Amino acid sequence: MKKIKSGPDVDLEILANMTPGMVGADLANLVNEAALLAVRRNKKEVSMSEFSEAVERIVAGLEKKNRLINPMERKTVAYHEMGHALVALSLPGTDPVHKISIIPRGISALGYTMQVPTEDRFLMRKTELLNKIASLLGGRAAEEIIFGDISTGAHSDLSRATDIAKSMIREYGMSAKLGQVYLSPEKRPQFMDLGMREGGDYSEATAEMIDQEIREIISSEYTRALDILKSKKDILEKGAQLLLEKEKIDGEEIKALMA
Ligand code: ZN
Repeated sequence: MKKIKSGPDVDLEILANMTPGMVGADLANLVNEAALLAVRRNKKEVSMSEFSEAVERIVAGLEKKNRLINPMERKTVAYHEMGHALVALSLPGTDPVHKISIIPRGISALGYTMQVPTEDRFLMRKTELLNKIASLLGGRAAEEIIFGDISTGAHSDLSRATDIAKSMIREYGMSAKLGQVYLSPEKRPQFMDLGMREGGDYSEATAEMIDQEIREIISSEYTRALDILKSKKDILEKGAQLLLEKEKIDGEEIKALMA
């Protein structure tokens, strides 16, 4: 930071909160990116807006403002992103929502909801993991409520939610049915046919139970997301409309909406 001239609105505390898990080289890259943006914008000093844009670039990829999206898709994305944000904001212990955007970024993201942890975390409680899954499913839940139909937009949400559920059951012993056991997820080569299924050192019956438990977690968290959004449908509507109007809304605007 010493090498650049930063504006009076730059709050290092906030910037630190926006960059959990970044190492020194990432931060150097961030400062560099922000400085380049300031130059491009003919600014004499680097202000918070450049830093915040630089964080988004690093986290979500470049803005693709000229990518053509038809109005129906845009609307779907707005409700989808608002769904994520609203579920996250309604559950205790989830990371605060910093920004929601429906400007396409990177290779495939049509929109995104940026949640910023208030601190680096090394341990997660079971309830936090379940809340995380519910927030991830909030996008699709909003689509179902508003359009009575679902889209392919939830593809990476489903993959992340399923990964968390899998880890909860196989690695963290968080399933009451399966108990406090570690069920190794690694694929192992089969040298001999020992009658064991490929993929883990447990029986076929256990494998079936694991599958059932994963589905059970996902479906009950999806129901929870649906319930939250149904009870706050007016905020969902208002937020999505605001997003369609402004393309992105920040943490303060989201708070005002919730209030
Ligand atoms: Zn999503």
